[in-house]
Amino acid sequence: MPDCVQAVAGYKVAKVAEAVLPTRFGEFQVCGFRGQGPDCEQELVVLVRGNVASGTQVPLLRIHSQCLTGEVFGSLRCDCGPQLELALSQIAESDCGLLIYDPQEGRGIGLLNKLMAYELQDDGADTVEANNQLGFGADEREYGFAVAILRYFGLNEVRLLSNNPAKIEALESEGIRVSERVPCTPDAGHKAHSYLKTKKEKLGHLVDGV
Ligand SMILES: [Zn+2]
Repeated sequence: MPDCVQAVAGYKVAKVAEAVLPTRFGEFQVCGFRGQGPDCEQELVVLVRGNVASGTQVPLLRIHSQCLTGEVFGSLRCDCGPQLELALSQIAESDCGLLIYDPQEGRGIGLLNKLMAYELQDDGADTVEANNQLGFGADEREYGFAVAILRYFGLNEVRLLSNNPAKIEALESEGIRVSERVPCTPDAGHKAHSYLKTKKEKLGHLVDGV
């Protein structure tokens, strides 16, 4: 693969496409990457605003984990859809930023397992308990591909749009400095209240007002 970047622990990405993507939030470049990990392959999409590699500004970054139910169907069980929209509008307003759309559905357990977890939640489990009952950790995500993409763009410092201290840690442990955390807290609606409460109390997310 031309244009390949090797990141930590054998995560490698190569850009295979780039095009203009006008959206209702503003105009981005959409980049398609093929990733090869230590034990998996992955396709990733990155939306880029401005010249992130210029080195003159620290870009605003969102690493957004895919959520079909929240983003496509408008599910109120979580705040993923509104978070994605907030992130895209904030990046569009900035001179320089990027959104890595990370296909780690259901905090890394996959779509159908997430739906099975929903079933357990309907019977009273919270999101962490449901994952555990299915034999998964509370959060199975890894950020090797995201780090490889940041390396591809030559970035070693970002402003991170996130409420998740684990993401900051994952980036910093790979030498990507997070010089600022920008909160990503849209109004998620009342149905997401218990979801956000578990995120805050069991996963240490920095969420106010729940
Ligand atoms: Zn979601």
